[in-house]
Amino acid sequence: MNIGSTEIKPTKIVCIGRNYLKHAKELNSPVPTEPVFFVKTINTLITDEKPIIYPRILYENEEFNRVDHEVELAFILSKKCKNISSDEAFDYIQGYSIFLDMTARKMQIFDRNKNLPWYRSKNFDTFSVIGPRIVPPNEIEDPHNLKIELLLNGKTQQSSNTSYMIFKIPEMIEYLSSFLTLEKGDIIATGTPSGVGPIQPGDVIKASIEKIGTITHEVILED
Ligand code: MG
Repeated sequence: MNIGSTEIKPTKIVCIGRNYLKHAKELNSPVPTEPVFFVKTINTLITDEKPIIYPRILYENEEFNRVDHEVELAFILSKKCKNISSDEAFDYIQGYSIFLDMTARKMQIFDRNKNLPWYRSKNFDTFSVIGPRIVPPNEIEDPHNLKIELLLNGKTQQSSNTSYMIFKIPEMIEYLSSFLTLEKGDIIATGTPSGVGPIQPGDVIKASIEKIGTITHEVILED
């Protein structure tokens, strides 16, 4: 797929959970002492202002009718990596982008309370949004000092700075690559700050990260 003018072929999307203190607290989750990762599959991925589809199976079910926005900084791997130490990690980054980790929140909590995986609540079609472009590392001096925000229908819901990440990007690469091979084009999402909340069909999400830009996506109900 093309993100802006850059073509990438990701084999996976790996996301870190609870990587901002205030967000872990708003979900009543313990603050992790080790990174917690989960995977989103490629069916979830959209870009270029394509609409986010609110699944009917959630919308029409009282038990599951909550989908949340989560704005995150993502980075894309420039080459294959396995067993990479944190001090060489920046050599493996192609660039940075804005990511929305859409989440079926009631379903996630329901599954979590039963000790089931997060897979289904995170992997509906269109639940991973990326764009508007991939910004190369030479344009971003410090990825851990960027304003990050999300507006829902013009109202600010999330507003923070990537400096508040608990686990930083080099640690994520070291940790992840100690378990599995990351491939060129793979997308890693670095977690969301506090302020996550529900969306509805008809809503417009506008997300921005300093030095990267802004993405705008409408939410529509599944046909
Ligand atoms: Mg997230």
